[in-house]
Order: sequence, then structure tokens, then C-alpha cells
Amino acid sequence: MLADAFGRVATDLRISLTDRCQLRCTYCMPAEGLKWLRKLDLLTDAEIVRLAGLFVTEGVRAIRLTGGEPTAHPRLPAIIAALAALTPRPELSVTTNGVTLAAAAPALAAAGLDRVNVSLDTLDRETYRALTRRDRLADVLAGVAAADAAGLRPVKINAVLMRGVNLAEAPALLEWALRAGYQLRFIEHMPLDPQHGWNRATMVTAEEILALLSERFTLRAVEPGARESAPAELFEVLDGPGADARAGGPGAVGGGAVDRPGAVGAGAWAGGSGAVGTVGVIGSVTRPFCRRCDRVRITADGQLRTCLFARAETDLRGPLRDGGSDAELIALIRAAVAGKQSGHAIGAADFVQPERPMSAIGG
Ligand code: SAM
Ligand code: SF4
Repeated sequence: MLADAFGRVATDLRISLTDRCQLRCTYCMPAEGLKWLRKLDLLTDAEIVRLAGLFVTEGVRAIRLTGGEPTAHPRLPAIIAALAALTPRPELSVTTNGVTLAAAAPALAAAGLDRVNVSLDTLDRETYRALTRRDRLADVLAGVAAADAAGLRPVKINAVLMRGVNLAEAPALLEWALRAGYQLRFIEHMPLDPQHGWNRATMVTAEEILALLSERFTLRAVEPGARESAPAELFEVLDGPGADARAGGPGAVGGGAVDRPGAVGAGAWAGGSGAVGTVGVIGSVTRPFCRRCDRVRITADGQLRTCLFARAETDLRGPLRDGGSDAELIALIRAAVAGKQSGHAIGAADFVQPERPMSAIGG
């Protein structure tokens, strides 16, 4: 078991397969890209699978492949198949920009992938082009549909809202996701960009996102217990496109309230009971979930990170390549997790952004 000094147990492993990407999202990478990791420094497929196997024997139950863009890895299906053969079999997911998913989804599902999280911040072609510096919105939409058709469900959509760019689009994104049956989650912008352009004063907060959504939808908070360690605060959407259909006509949309658990009768829509879907808000900065964090990360060059914001890493690649035994590697991993920091301390006077940007850590 991978326990830390604060009583948390790591059960969720993120593995970055590459730091490279075809997109250049403005909040993630500069237009010219970054200084990429050297190929020989990247973990080989066998190294990835061996490390993952050690984490699984230590209690990891879910593995997410990320990057950079993990679908750019030429042998992704083979890696997924090898991870699916681990015992006990971990739940397997991929976080992707979706650009090449239309072609890749069937093979990924056949290899044993369970789910995908697709990052999509806008449905407007021009805004997408400006935000990602690439004209690939149509490919992403096709990719999301292909993932759904391949059974990689629930398809989750991750969106980062930027003031003056796509913030006003949040309700439209939710409406689109509800209609299609995708689970949308809004993520607060975090100070992990190499350009150091993050600014707490101008970032879009979870509170602001919820207020904006509540102008159009009635939201009811799902009891926190139900989301266990998951970072997203989940809200049932009590009205919207699905509700209209069930009510037999265009219903009154927009109860305008974010109901807290236990609010009696709040947010009921005229056509019946129950929610038309859910929406998640990940307030990593303003509503940190550090106390329940169950995650650890391995970078594409084999460094173990116990927090997105950690300033220290534990080298696993060196000991792997030096012939380290399973017991030696497990001892290293246990010691690293035991030393996991209590929280990220963004906002503290002495907060220093980690040297690695998000794309090189594995988001
Ligand atoms: N390329 C893949 C993708 O975009 O889904 C996987 C890697 S990407 C780094 C993972 C997630 O991190 C994406 O949803 C992206 O929007 C998010 N992300 C990147 N930089 C971020 C930042 N500074 N703050 C919050 N989220 C960020
Ligand atoms: Fe690429 Fe994902 Fe970063 Fe966008 S957020 S540049 S898709 S790694």
C-alpha cells in the first residue's frame, strides 16, 4: 500500500507517455513549442509496463495515460493491452486532445481502454483555432463521437475557461454535452504554464463558473461522499435539453440557483424528477482537494511525482536501467509517496511554480 504521512493512500497513477503535442494551447505551451525530452530519456514500453505493474501490486487501481498528447505515441494500443493484462486489472483511461481519436478509438477500445477524457474548451472554430493555435476542431468533434461509438464511456470532456476567450461559452458547452450524453468538467486554470502567464486575480474561479451556469441551468450539488477522492465537485443538472424533451416541450430553463445538498425541493423542473445529466467543476486552486488526493504521477522520462506542484521528483528510470530489483523499486516508490506534501499551497507567499510545465508532468 502506498500511504503518506497524512493518511492518504495512492490508488490512481497517471503515466505521461510523451511531452510532445500537435496543439499549442495558449495556457499550456508557447507557439514555438518547448524543448522536448530526448527520445533516449523516455521510458520504453517495457519500462512503463514494469513500473505500472509495481504500482498495481502496491494498490493502484486506476491508470491514466496522458502527456503531452498520449495518442501521438505510436504503440499506444500495445501499451494499453499490456496494462490491461496486469493483475488485478486496473481501470484504464486516456486524457487526450482528441485530434486523432476518430481513427484511433476502435483500436484503443479493442486493446482494453475503458474510458477517455477529451480536452475541448470551445465549440467555435475560430476560438478553437485561437486557443490551440491549430484548426482542428472538426477532428476533435469526430474523435469524441468515435470514442462514444467505440464504447469508451462515459466520455468525459475537460474544459479550461479563459476570461475574454471562451468563458461566455460555458453554458453552450454544457448544453452540447448534455444533449450528447458526455460528462463535462470545468477545470480551473493552474499555475503550470511555461510562460508563467497565470494570474490568480484574473483566473476564472469555480464559483464564477457555477454562477454563470446557474443563469441558464438549475444545479444541485451531489453529496461530496459520492465523489470520494475525485477532484470534481459534481452537480446534477435538473433542467436543460433532456428535461425539455421529457417535459414534452420547451421547458422553463434556468432555475438560477446552485442548490446545496439537502435543499428541499430546490431546483425541480416542471416536467418531472431527476437530473438530465451532471457537470463537474474542478477548483484545484480555489477549492483544493489535496486532503483527499489519491494520485501519483510518472513523467515520460521516468520521474515519480507525488503532486502536480511538487518541486522534487524521484528518479525511477535510473534504478530501472541499473538493474534495480522489484523490491528496490518498490522501496523507492513507497518512500517517495510517504514524503508526499500535504497540499499545493498556491497562493502562499512562498509558492513557487514547479519547473516542469503541465505538458511535461502529465496532466
Ligand atoms: N494533451 C492532452 C489533453 O490536452 O487532454 C493531455 C495532456 S493536457 C496537459 C491535460 C489537461 O491539462 C488538459 O485538459 C488541459 O486542458 C489541461 N491543462 C493544461 N494546462 C493547464 C493549466 N495550466 N491549468 C489547468 N489545466 C491545464
Ligand atoms: Fe497539447 Fe494538451 Fe497542452 Fe493542449 S493542453 S498543448 S493538447 S498537451
